[in-house]
Amino acid sequence: MNTAQPAKRIHSFHPPQRTLLGPGPSDIHPRTIAAMGQPVVGYLDPIFVEMMDELKTLLRYAYRTENALTFPGSGPGSVGMETCFVNLVEPGDKVIVCRNGVFGGRMIENVERCGGTPVVVEDAWGEPVDPQKVEDAFKAHPDARILAFIQAETSTGCASDARTLAALAHRFGALSIVDAVTSLGGSELRVDEWGLDAVYSGSQKCLSCTPGLTPLTFSEAALARIKARRHKVQSWFMDLNLVLEYWGNTKRTYHHTAPINGLYALHEALLLLREEGIDNAWTRHQRHHAALKAGLEAIGLRFVVREASRLPQMNAVYIPEGINDLDVRRRLLADFNLEIGAGLGPLAGKVWRFGLMGYSCRAENVMLCLSALGSVLADMGYPVEVGHAEAAAHAVYAAQHAEAARNKHK
Ligand SMILES: *Cc1c(COP(=O)(O)O)cnc(C)c1O
Repeated sequence: MNTAQPAKRIHSFHPPQRTLLGPGPSDIHPRTIAAMGQPVVGYLDPIFVEMMDELKTLLRYAYRTENALTFPGSGPGSVGMETCFVNLVEPGDKVIVCRNGVFGGRMIENVERCGGTPVVVEDAWGEPVDPQKVEDAFKAHPDARILAFIQAETSTGCASDARTLAALAHRFGALSIVDAVTSLGGSELRVDEWGLDAVYSGSQKCLSCTPGLTPLTFSEAALARIKARRHKVQSWFMDLNLVLEYWGNTKRTYHHTAPINGLYALHEALLLLREEGIDNAWTRHQRHHAALKAGLEAIGLRFVVREASRLPQMNAVYIPEGINDLDVRRRLLADFNLEIGAGLGPLAGKVWRFGLMGYSCRAENVMLCLSALGSVLADMGYPVEVGHAEAAAHAVYAAQHAEAARNKHK
């Protein structure tokens, strides 16, 4: 008997052109998409190896670091997270982990699976990591070898002070593992100046590249810790001692097949970032965040995070009373090809998350978003004057333009 589904002709897959204003992936620049469509070459082709070196240089630029061990890992941000933990945490190690949202919880999981003991520093969702609590944890656990925290907590849109936290780790003789998945390219991040030891990111957030790559960088101290391990790294795939046979500086031998075309795309995405200038990219995220914020507040939406800790690239706001989360997001997608983010964990159904990441972070998207949201909410009977939000955003842009003109004539 044939148990297969009734015959359905399968055609080529052609996704619609969406505007991605969620928690990632973000829109991909046409130059980056085009880079991916080039011919594949072998992973040891000299021309490819040359590009790998450029990639490392470009990543050092984005991370503001001179770390020799800086390269894109094969896999999403989660692989970056796991790479840092499996290489730096040995069985029996104590690790202080800060949790103020979804991703800190995953770090705790990682520590446990490495046989380490997590010491958890809790802060409320939407609050930044409190350095005082971290200091207290170090005082209570002076044998802690690592401090792990999220610089940009994507589940709430909250920034923590990476510089202060990493300095605390050093003061107590520990290394830092820093999640920069949402921060890299979107908000200030200075690996060397701030003394961060192991940092991972993702290709699909503020770098606006194809998902599935994880920029990694390790300080000399982190590398020395890895070299001095007493136990073998339990993951064969992520063991840096082995990965470096391919990505290191001296030799290049096969470890696993690199995601060749994805790396072309990352090369182009990082080149775009360098052409813009990293400081300009950080400022651009601030500028469009200010306009979006004015618009969302004109609609009457309230931010989850207080102003001083808000991430420009991730704007979480409470859903108004009586408005159905899913209905709104469905209409935005169906009628406007616009994707925004839903709430996670305890914030599910309670917040929307508006991402302005990388190439998605543009005036036309801010205006589309406010216009689409205003009209969908008005249709649902929410008291909003269509056009109010755009006017508020326009006022912010107009003030920015006036200021830029004044500065030009100085
Ligand atoms: C998205 C994200 C991750 C996970 O990245 P994936 O590419 O989805 O595996 C980790 N940490 C933070 C803060 C993120 O925003």
